Amino acid sequence: MRGKGHFNSLQGEHMRGTAEMIFTGDELLRGDIVNTNQAFLGESLLDVGLFATHALTVSDDLEAISQAILAAVSRYPDVLIISGGLGPTDDDLTREAVARALDRPLEHHEVLLDEIRFRFTQIGMPMGDSNRKQALLPRGATAIPFTGTAPGFWLLEGETLVAALPGVPRELVHMWAKTLEPMIRGRLGTGSGQGAPAGGVVVRKLRIYGIGESALQEVLSEVPWRGQGVDIGTRASLDGITLILRSQPTPAAQALLARIEEQAREILGTKIYGTGNADLSAVVGGLLRDRSLTICTAESCTGGLVAKRLTDVPGSSDYFLGGVVTYSNELKTDLLGVPPALLEEHGAVSEPVAAAMARGALRLLGADCAIATTGIAGPGGATPEKPVGTVYVATALGDDVQVRHFTMFRTRDEIRERTAQSSLDVFRRRLLDPLDK
Ligand code: ATP
Ligand code: MG
Repeated sequence: MRGKGHFNSLQGEHMRGTAEMIFTGDELLRGDIVNTNQAFLGESLLDVGLFATHALTVSDDLEAISQAILAAVSRYPDVLIISGGLGPTDDDLTREAVARALDRPLEHHEVLLDEIRFRFTQIGMPMGDSNRKQALLPRGATAIPFTGTAPGFWLLEGETLVAALPGVPRELVHMWAKTLEPMIRGRLGTGSGQGAPAGGVVVRKLRIYGIGESALQEVLSEVPWRGQGVDIGTRASLDGITLILRSQPTPAAQALLARIEEQAREILGTKIYGTGNADLSAVVGGLLRDRSLTICTAESCTGGLVAKRLTDVPGSSDYFLGGVVTYSNELKTDLLGVPPALLEEHGAVSEPVAAAMARGALRLLGADCAIATTGIAGPGGATPEKPVGTVYVATALGDDVQVRHFTMFRTRDEIRERTAQSSLDVFRRRLLDPLDK
């Protein structure tokens, strides 16, 4: 789940540690496929301490690709990653484009051809003549071990690490994880995980829920960090905001980063639900497991999304018993025992009905805890008192039921997604502090 974001440093002083990406493929430009490789690489580059400054998608055209490469290397990024165009067909032009842009002849590698041939025997297919060109690498390049039939490669152009990876997402991810990431961490000295050893670029990501991006910016404006070797960035998505802190490899900058993190933790408290790439549903699951508690759901406006989120996590059967989607008033009454009088008096989207749904779910499904949702996702169904986006989320910890009222914005999809995420977060905070309002 990813969203918009920005980095303050890129508007002003320029730090060491930049990366660029080039994506090849007419199908990307036409919108036939979504550029998931960019989302993956953008996040992965940040994890190793690199800020992406450019990402360009170019058509399957030799001139266009080589010009893009030339322009990128002339900005001296630490890393340039090219995705796609390594296959055997005529529209696979990355090898030639690198050769042309960097003025390096293509050289045949017999060992590489043997490996490609071996891959074909493994999958029981004959290797075509066209695959021979996949054994060509620009002079000075090293092949990257591959799982498919397309080898990637990397080379150094001056100080820039240029890497060409296949477009197939699974193959690209594999080459990143097995070869590039360790290589880049080695070059930057960022070790193997979050919070690198002394001397490396440190990246800390704090995952936050329940505060807006602009409110977070305001909170952070109290922290003096500008011009001191630390970058602060935020990224907003449906599962909250990620605060990304990155420091230069100097002890002073790293000490400052630690202080900023401490300050952020003090201000934000339990609004921080995790670090790194922590997932809200997994965090909730971990808390339930630690406490040996089970949970069930009763959903109306979210139509099963809360149950979906909970079961996105492998091993969720340890704590998630099940859920019901009670969309109609009749089912709210028949399955969950919501009194018809309550529905009549307050309407289905109301605090007492949300609470009754949570209690009913506990009775029906026999869990220790429950989450219930009811709301108006729109675009229709609004009344003057209850506009689109009116949502009630009930959480039950045993008999103790609390209801929170939210006003969500934007589209039906977003209202439903946000309701599901918010319900998980409300529940998480209650587990941490049963008195949390
Ligand atoms: P192949 O040997 O399969 O031809 P390749 O390295 O030449 O590999 P492409 O031909 O560019 O890669 O892309 C192969 C497939 O991978 C595409 O048809 C598309 O489905 C997927 N793909 C390519 N680029 C991306 C991307 N940026 N994001 C998501 N999927 C992609
Ligand atoms: Mg191809």
